[in-house]
Amino acid sequence: MNSKLAPPSRLTDLLFQRSGKLTQELVRNPGGFGLGQVPVRLTPDATTTAVCGFCSTGCGLEVHLKHGQAVNLSPARDYSVNKGAACPKGWEALTPLYAKDRAVRPLLRNARGGLEEVPWQVALDTFCARFKDIQQRHGAHSVAFISTGQIPSEEMALLGALAKFGMGMLHGDGNTRQCMATAVVAYKQAFGFDAPPFTYDDFEQSDVLVFIGANPCIAHPIMWERVCKNLHHPRIIVIDPRKTETAMAATQHLPLRPKSDLRLLYCVANLLIERGYVKREYVDAHVSGFEELAAHVRGFSLADVAMDTGLSSESIEQLVETIGRGERVSFWWTMGVNQSHEGVRVAQAIINIALITGNIGRPGTGANSITGQCNAMGSRLFSNTTNLLGGHDFANAEHRAKVAAALGIDVAHIPQQGSLAYDQILEGVLRGKIKGLWIIATNTAHSWINQSDVKDVLGRLDFLVVQDMYTTTETARLANLVLPAAGWGEKEGTFINSERRIGLLKKVSRAPGEALADFYIFKLIADAWGCADLLRGFASPEQTFQLLKRVSRGQPCDITGIADYAMLDERRGIQWPLPEGQDVGVQAERRLFEDGRFFHADGRARLLFEAPRPVPEPIDENYPLILLSGRGSSSQWHTQTRTSKSAVLRKLYPEEPYVEVNPEDARRYGLSPSDYAIVESRRGKLRARVNVTHVVQPGQVFVPMHYAAANQLTFAAFDPYSRQPSYKHCAVQIRKSDPFAD
Ligand code: SF4
Repeated sequence: MNSKLAPPSRLTDLLFQRSGKLTQELVRNPGGFGLGQVPVRLTPDATTTAVCGFCSTGCGLEVHLKHGQAVNLSPARDYSVNKGAACPKGWEALTPLYAKDRAVRPLLRNARGGLEEVPWQVALDTFCARFKDIQQRHGAHSVAFISTGQIPSEEMALLGALAKFGMGMLHGDGNTRQCMATAVVAYKQAFGFDAPPFTYDDFEQSDVLVFIGANPCIAHPIMWERVCKNLHHPRIIVIDPRKTETAMAATQHLPLRPKSDLRLLYCVANLLIERGYVKREYVDAHVSGFEELAAHVRGFSLADVAMDTGLSSESIEQLVETIGRGERVSFWWTMGVNQSHEGVRVAQAIINIALITGNIGRPGTGANSITGQCNAMGSRLFSNTTNLLGGHDFANAEHRAKVAAALGIDVAHIPQQGSLAYDQILEGVLRGKIKGLWIIATNTAHSWINQSDVKDVLGRLDFLVVQDMYTTTETARLANLVLPAAGWGEKEGTFINSERRIGLLKKVSRAPGEALADFYIFKLIADAWGCADLLRGFASPEQTFQLLKRVSRGQPCDITGIADYAMLDERRGIQWPLPEGQDVGVQAERRLFEDGRFFHADGRARLLFEAPRPVPEPIDENYPLILLSGRGSSSQWHTQTRTSKSAVLRKLYPEEPYVEVNPEDARRYGLSPSDYAIVESRRGKLRARVNVTHVVQPGQVFVPMHYAAANQLTFAAFDPYSRQPSYKHCAVQIRKSDPFAD
């Protein structure tokens, strides 16, 4: 044991008493538990690199240590992702660790209804006793979990294995359902595997970039910097109802009517076909379903679609000509597409256009979904929720046998079906089928669509456990038991970013009080539950990474060629795939499908399409405005559990909720700039400052998603294939706020 490490604390003593096996691990790796000092591999005064823990860009940050503790950070100049830049969130990444409302000890709800501190042992015993009791009374599947895209892949994998192989749960999903599920299903069906094909270098290599429902200037500012570094004088097209910051910087903006995107994309495909812009040779060799697609899109005439979308025929034709004549055209989408009642088919309409024009597998091309959270891609591959570990299928006996062998467990422990989706788990609670829920590092009571319903749903549980960094999240306040977790910078593991780059997260700061890395909370629960032996391979984050390598063997996401964490650190992150025997050198930026071979058994990509569906909640005379929601600024992150802790970041965004209103509507409803207004849907209302702006079109209003009240308005509709919520469209009314009545 390193003599520089702090002496074992009261908690360490407790953990030592609980388990002989854990004792040995603690002796080997005390820092890994969130206790003691930073890992022994870092010298006390040094600079080290860690990948950022907010968004999916995955920037490298240089963290500066003094006496073994992070004191400051700066963007890494030699990291290919960000090349010396970071957005405000990255610069402020250390600040949220020191917040006053950190969870520092387990909290248990007492007989008086308050949360009170309890020792870890009581927390663990209560966790197991309550969940086992629920399972005994209502069946093994009456307990479920909801996880996150914010914790490392190793922690996700251990959680998924513990819950499903050890505790007998069948259902567990992640908050990535809210952002990436649509892209996952779209890619799987079209390419045969969930495989975003691009590398960030494509931002710099395109001569045409088409952004659909994406605002990288605000949501992914470092990716936008890569666009700004493009030396090919690219044409930049933005398809978005709002005149976003990215639309203002574009060469063409198509402000289409909300949720008319599928019609527009089918019309574009039709015109590309009619005007001879199809790369027949590529399609014949690598793509299935062209004749069927051509017949389908023939029904979307320019005149009809111009009317449906509210766009001029000329602007649609200009879009078609720019795509058709481009040499290297890339298509980028995010939540404007994914968060839709028909998002999968919209994403596939984008993929269709890239495929038929041969814009895939070459520099500067691709049908490219930008992910949201820092480890959304890790969640997609390694969370063991809807996919079996490594992008495998629970329902496939061969896959189960392969994963069981890789983990060294009996195959009988692996369920034969995937999980219910997030909304179905909540529905299960509502119907009394799910009685116990374990929520890890996500803020369901704020972020889930139609917030008033979800609070009612969570209130019906027999036992709710929330594992989080903070005690004050809207969800933690509802919990029966709060388990205090270490945050970014207080633990080790890996994240996978939007371009499939696996980056290393390092422990550079001590977690406060008795907060523990999620990894070790899962280990303690396994021990208390009595299934620690089954999970013995998950001894530490790095040993778990070795397990993930093993389960990935032979998959499109094969990472058996990555030796260890040291290699990830040296190479400044490595993109998947990297099979054993392949070496791509330092900082290589690689894209998929260069050989035109896709992951379906026949090696061909599929063109997929369907008739557009009506919007779930159309406007009417009582609710005459369409509510759009989205990111407000690059200084805010999701439900603001972390970004609101930084005084610097708080200065960079409005403190109060605000609503963007077009000047025409402002006149109609008697609203002036900085007035307060009530925005009301059939489900709830919020009070917000009025921002009169041409950013939104007449008939539409926009509210940023970061304020707790935003999801009191949203309408719970879902894509039928991905079960992703449709946050971007519902019907509302607006009126000037009466300070006495409202
Ligand atoms: S762009 Fe994303 S990954 Fe980069 S610094 Fe900002 S939040 Fe972190």
